[in-house]
Amino acid sequence: MTFRSKAFEIAQSRVSPVLTPPAEKVADLYGINTFSDDVMKTLLSAEAYTKVSNAIRSGSTIDIEVADEVSAAMKSWAISKGATHYTHWFQPLNGTTAEKHDSFFDLTIDGRAVEKFKGSALVQQEPDASSFPSGGLRATFEARGYTGWDPSSPAFLMDNGAGGKTLCIPSVFISYNGEALDYKAPLLRSLVMLDKAATSVCQFFNRDVNKVTPTLGIEQEYFLVDKALYYARPDLLMAGRTVFGHSPARGQQLDDHYFGSISPRVNTFMVDFEFEALKLGIPVRTRHNEVAPGQFECAPTFEEVNLAIDHNALLMDLMQKVGDKHNFQVLFHEKPFAGINGSGKHNNWSLSTDTGINLLAPTSKPKENLRFLTFLMNVVKAVHDHADLLRASISSAGNEHRLGANEAPPSIVSVFLGNDLTSMLEELVNKGEITLEKGENFYYKLGLTRIPNLQRDNTDRNRTSPFCFTGNKFEYRAVGSSQNSASPMIILNTIVANQLMDFKREMDERLASGEEKKVATVEILKRYFTESKNILFEGNGYSEEWIELAKERGLSNIRTTYDALYAYKTDKTISVFERTGVLNSRELHARYEIELENYVKKIQIESRVISDLALNHIVSTVVKYQFKLAQTARSLTDLEMLEEAEPIKEIIRDISSHVVVIKRLVHEMTESRKTANNIDDLFEKAKYYGSNVKYFFDEIRYHVDKLELLIDDEDWPLAKYREMLFLE
Ligand code: ADP
Ligand code: MG
Repeated sequence: MTFRSKAFEIAQSRVSPVLTPPAEKVADLYGINTFSDDVMKTLLSAEAYTKVSNAIRSGSTIDIEVADEVSAAMKSWAISKGATHYTHWFQPLNGTTAEKHDSFFDLTIDGRAVEKFKGSALVQQEPDASSFPSGGLRATFEARGYTGWDPSSPAFLMDNGAGGKTLCIPSVFISYNGEALDYKAPLLRSLVMLDKAATSVCQFFNRDVNKVTPTLGIEQEYFLVDKALYYARPDLLMAGRTVFGHSPARGQQLDDHYFGSISPRVNTFMVDFEFEALKLGIPVRTRHNEVAPGQFECAPTFEEVNLAIDHNALLMDLMQKVGDKHNFQVLFHEKPFAGINGSGKHNNWSLSTDTGINLLAPTSKPKENLRFLTFLMNVVKAVHDHADLLRASISSAGNEHRLGANEAPPSIVSVFLGNDLTSMLEELVNKGEITLEKGENFYYKLGLTRIPNLQRDNTDRNRTSPFCFTGNKFEYRAVGSSQNSASPMIILNTIVANQLMDFKREMDERLASGEEKKVATVEILKRYFTESKNILFEGNGYSEEWIELAKERGLSNIRTTYDALYAYKTDKTISVFERTGVLNSRELHARYEIELENYVKKIQIESRVISDLALNHIVSTVVKYQFKLAQTARSLTDLEMLEEAEPIKEIIRDISSHVVVIKRLVHEMTESRKTANNIDDLFEKAKYYGSNVKYFFDEIRYHVDKLELLIDDEDWPLAKYREMLFLE
């Protein structure tokens, strides 16, 4: 019995754990494991509560007395709910979440046990964090890293499974010099800048707006594989994706999985992690099957960007933990299975004001629609001017399999606005000179009264667009499923903030020179539209014609991660980031290096896994099978059944031809890896890995997948696609 068949047997006989439905109504569960606003209100003095609320709203600092009061309240709340430890929970640049648990338990000088957690421990900690990537920001002589409390994201209790709970305090992670070593620090900076820039532009239209909050709703796609089968795939285990595997006879061509009924086993898992998510204040709302077999999606309701990103990171962690209980491995890799749709993380992004307006939602009122068009066009212009940077923000070894691979968003950044909106903007420009008529029909002349009732989701075609307008928000669809959304959101917030600053400056100049406000706005928007029109695309983003057309339009089509990442270091990028203060050039450079290093490591690991599997699992199995065939052929020959022996010999030869090529290719790939490892320059190394080493992946795969069809099914060592993907 092979390991694989044993695994399959186990997977077939799984029984879902019985869920005890929580006593409370679902709504009552919501947020019970978070140190929420309500909890603070009950546990803090009125003065401390006000100070914390102000800090959350306006970013004002919290003095140590207040921190002491908050920490005391947090401690008693957490302990009363069964917590034994606390940790600063942060998001280092290796793409995971990090925690180092400290016990509340402490000893006094005279040896008595006490439970301790002071304000200073809440506000700042110094984890031994020297092994997190810093891209050279921490020289060895100053290897310290600090985590600092982010009061705008509520602390929460994480169940460790073994009885104890840990109080997790969302935090930033910075170096001794204050440079960002994580995703959250620059994200928070970008949100402050965007708020400022958007609020000042809003004031041209609504004087009562004092704050603009960027919002984000993240749709998370993932695959589920039974644990036993997962362990029967060393490639999934080591690299998160299958490096070999012949397509099953039936894939997704029948389109019968998408939105189909969810199997009971999967459904039980979903219900379980959703309960846990709700307790942590994650507003999970939709669940459904995705396009590919074995693929699913989970989408919480949108929240403030910072919260949405923390919640997504937490949700991924939670899904994995709950998955263990259900014997599922959750695959977040962008492309776990070749020939089958990959996974993305769709980032729905918008801007909302403290007066309750969604700035990207058109309305029926002409005045409001000029505001809507202003924000819409500023986003389009920002994306147009910094398309390469947006492309860089979603580049990784995993996402490289999706982007431009004919089934996921293309590697060309374009914006979908929908025909209605595009033709309206065109009309606006083509009206030519603006006649300075005042009054109601002023707008009518500009075509502004007639913003059509946009269909909220004219999806079919915008599915192929990496960045599309969906009626009241933009959806950045090209983000990879395993990525931390902060990376694209930092970029998007920053380029839009920068763009709004430009808009404001020009408006101020025009107004100072006596131009009428509406005229000035329309004039600027017309120019933006003309300047960024070439990035608008309504057609099929997966088509060959688009690649050609995009080339004619002069749009970038960057296919590889190492080339895409370059945008992090250009003068243009540095100047935008330094102007807004989101990242300095050292921090940008560090990010560039970390991403490149990550890329090298991923390809290196995959290459090693391929060598190992090809030689120690595939070739060795195949040779044994050949021996069986040879014995059969010899027996037939002994019986003088030469004709009957011939087809068997033919199979032996066929198998041999593949084995010979596999052995040669693995050898060549290993040599190529050696060459790559000797390259000092990081970019050149990444390029060598991404082109020369990676070149062998598909070559080797081709022959291994052929062998999968030649070898007796009983002997094949790796779990097959049909076994992993069609499990009920
Ligand atoms: P659906 O009915 O398909 O869920 P929606 O357009 O309501 O369609 O939502 C799609 C995704 O967009 C959801 O993840 C949702 O949370 C998010 N979303 C909706 N409105 C906003 C908004 N104003 N800002 C950010 N995300 C939003
Ligand atoms: Mg989706």
